[in-house]
Amino acid sequence: MKCLYCKGELKRKKVSYTANRNGYHLIIDDVPAWVCQQCGETLFDEATTDAIQSMLREMDRQRKQLTRIPVAA
Ligand SMILES: [Zn+2]
Repeated sequence: MKCLYCKGELKRKKVSYTANRNGYHLIIDDVPAWVCQQCGETLFDEATTDAIQSMLREMDRQRKQLTRIPVAA
């Protein structure tokens, strides 16, 4: 597998994935990724992307529920 941007060598590594969402910020440690040895670009394969997306969907849902809790007067 080669880097999409510079055609450099990709190495399997674990990285931290950061998501800045509306209402919360999420950091997931030890996410398996392909990291370019040349330009440092990080690529995720489809299974990893899907897993992250479903985590974010669930977080969005729960975050929405949290906003529905009334603030006591
Ligand atoms: Zn690259």
